[in-house]
Amino acid sequence: MLVTTPESLLKPLLAGSAFSYAALDSEGRVVSGKRVANARAAVRTPAETRLPWTLYLTSGETQDSAGLLGRQRFLLFVTAVMSLFLVTGSYLIARAIRREIAVARMQSDFVSAVSHEFRSPLTSIRQLSEILALGRIPNEQRRQVYYETLVRESTRLQRLIEGLLNFGRMEAGVRQYRFEPLDAGSLVSRVAAEFEPQVSAAGRHIEIEGLEEPCVIEADPEALSVALRNLVDNALKYAPDCPTVRVQWAVENSQVAISVRDRGPGIPADEKKAIFRKFVRGSAALAANVKGSGVGLAMVHHIVAAHGGNVSLASEPGSGSVFTILLPLGSERMAAAK
Ligand code: ADP
Repeated sequence: MLVTTPESLLKPLLAGSAFSYAALDSEGRVVSGKRVANARAAVRTPAETRLPWTLYLTSGETQDSAGLLGRQRFLLFVTAVMSLFLVTGSYLIARAIRREIAVARMQSDFVSAVSHEFRSPLTSIRQLSEILALGRIPNEQRRQVYYETLVRESTRLQRLIEGLLNFGRMEAGVRQYRFEPLDAGSLVSRVAAEFEPQVSAAGRHIEIEGLEEPCVIEADPEALSVALRNLVDNALKYAPDCPTVRVQWAVENSQVAISVRDRGPGIPADEKKAIFRKFVRGSAALAANVKGSGVGLAMVHHIVAAHGGNVSLASEPGSGSVFTILLPLGSERMAAAK
């Protein structure tokens, strides 16, 4: 074939394709076609083609550098966003797993703590009833002591079970409260009296102090007794060397404040919030190996919140703790004050 001009060779060959070409003479001048800058090209020298031109064949999909840079930036952005998603996702998954593990551990601690709580009254009840059934009682006085212990231990067991059932209802939001006018002083005296046999047997004392006049709140007596009982019980068990636990009630800024003070180990600042969460047991419990299930304060929090109040804690490690239940003053009290 006789090739006189580059186009006579290349045009028919490239017709209909996306390729473009350029033919340069020996001095580098374009004699035919168009040389596309910054594009990849297949180059054929005169030595290879035996033609007088250097031929450049360029793909039709040329990219100028700005376009390439833009695409690279976009890819970089997409990669960065994906990496961010990946890192955030991994962090969230790891956090969720950590929480699940913590909850699972707390639940299993709870189950074992509750089992231990149940075991001791059950063991006493079984042993005492066996002795009574076998008639191995030395005298009538002892028989009476056994009966009283049976009553005490079975009441403790019943309280434990009722407490857990009530806690379940509170958690599910189905606990029903029956509000009625209630004198804070009578409530405190009643709860303190419940502890009297156990406290005096240990040579200890619950000191109560409050207003002379009635201090009426709108409350569910049973639920509020549970809350106060939990606080007194905690004060007694976490401050075993402290001979006196003090329960006070007063009116502060139109609120009734019922506080329980002990001179026990106190509560570190970083635990003050957490101990009100369910299943959480603090360092005082772990250090002294005190029995418990970690739901007492969560119950106090639930009950007090249902009464429109709140519970606060003031404590210094080594100087004891003061838990205060703050409740709105009842309308009766308001009326009496006028
Ligand atoms: P439990 O007593 O069964 O562990 P609570 O919810 O009643 O559960 O209490 C949670 C934690 O708060 C306890 O494990 C204990 O570490 C801490 N705590 C509660 N009351 C006191 C107190 N009076 N003195 C010191 N620590 C306390």
